[in-house]
Amino acid sequence: MAELIDQLHELLGAGGVLRGDEARSRSGAWGVNHCAALVVLRPRSTGEISAILRLCHAAGQPVVTEGGKTGLVSGALAGPGEIALSLERMNRIEQLDARSRTMTVQAGATLQAVHEAAEAQSLVMPLDLGARGSATIGGNIATNAGGNQVIRYGMMREQVLGLEAVLADGTVVSSMNAVLKNNTGYDLKHLFIGSEGTLGIITRAVLRLRPLMPARNSALVATDSLEKLIELLTFIERELGGRMSAFEAMWNSYYRIACKGPHLGEPPLPDEYPFYVLIESAGADLEAEGEQFLATLGRALENGLLTDAVLAQNSKEREAFWAIRDNIESVVTLWPLAIFDISLPIAAMESYLERCAAALRELLGELRWVTFGHLGDGNLHLAIALGSDDPALKQAVEKLVYSELSGIGGSISAEHGIGLDKRAWLGCSRSPQEIALMKTLKRALDPGNILNPGKIFLAS
Ligand code: ZN
Repeated sequence: MAELIDQLHELLGAGGVLRGDEARSRSGAWGVNHCAALVVLRPRSTGEISAILRLCHAAGQPVVTEGGKTGLVSGALAGPGEIALSLERMNRIEQLDARSRTMTVQAGATLQAVHEAAEAQSLVMPLDLGARGSATIGGNIATNAGGNQVIRYGMMREQVLGLEAVLADGTVVSSMNAVLKNNTGYDLKHLFIGSEGTLGIITRAVLRLRPLMPARNSALVATDSLEKLIELLTFIERELGGRMSAFEAMWNSYYRIACKGPHLGEPPLPDEYPFYVLIESAGADLEAEGEQFLATLGRALENGLLTDAVLAQNSKEREAFWAIRDNIESVVTLWPLAIFDISLPIAAMESYLERCAAALRELLGELRWVTFGHLGDGNLHLAIALGSDDPALKQAVEKLVYSELSGIGGSISAEHGIGLDKRAWLGCSRSPQEIALMKTLKRALDPGNILNPGKIFLAS
């Protein structure tokens, strides 16, 4: 091991290898999951990553790739004896082609840096999520991230035209396609998208950009039942003619805690309504878009789908709505807790939540939980107070939430991935045949099992 680290040091130079406390002080989102890696490598190029993997492959040394460490499933958690590899020094936006609407970036670029570069050219890279300031493009691709505009633009997979990845043995596969249509055999980028660093290290990507829609309208609305909330989704989507860009639902339980905080002002709506939704539309014509948005909400109010609504009059008010939606850290008031990122058919949501609530009450005695999510795409986030940090209790809660999903075609991970935290439950969402094929792919691409070993599933 000492010999390998000396070789890596020689390869990467002084700032390229962090050791000891410098390596171990790096934690994940929310200050949890401390890195236990022996060293953290900070390469500057694809060539350096290729050389690192050649050495590690020969030595049988496990390598865990890090992005912004905001995935919340311990997908980038390096254990003792493992080497962490961070792409933080590969954060350049290499090229933006406004005519072809593509951007070529290195994997360590933050989501926010990509947003800013696109917007400077009146374009957008429409994947967006709360951790945008630290989440990286490589991490977004490796986990096929979702976020709050999926209903209109799809997940990260839909924003990637091409990518470059380094295989376990150091081979560089450059598949930097920049066209929308390319049916020339297997579409290899999809092997790496959502593979959580287990099949290769994503180093660069060509992203698809869309026109910036300057006319953005935002409203925070309240409604009094889940049934109406679901009806409202269909109504707004239809009335806005496909220009709805967000439909973020918050149950009273979430709104009540998330609307308060030192960085937040007076809540835009009182906290006694059963459900809240942050609705947005994005279009080209400032005047027409605003009028249509207002008229649509007015009709929803007349139809009884809404009970209250407040419109953002300027970007500051809009940001205040999003600050509530993004105030996810407010759920730590439930600590110790279990958090969930599940998806299920919208039609099954109400009965699923009722069944879960009844079973959880039986298990925990008192039920304290919060629910919110990107309702339009069937994605819900739950945070459930456990009242104790007994791992067996947490496991019992997970079993209950996940087993209720398997019978209704739901998924135990909508947008965060499996990592380590959900590995035991993969079978709730994937058949034995699917898992066997995943393992066949893993063995073919990484026979020595050195890339993020033990994440998603155990290779053997
Ligand atoms: Zn989410």
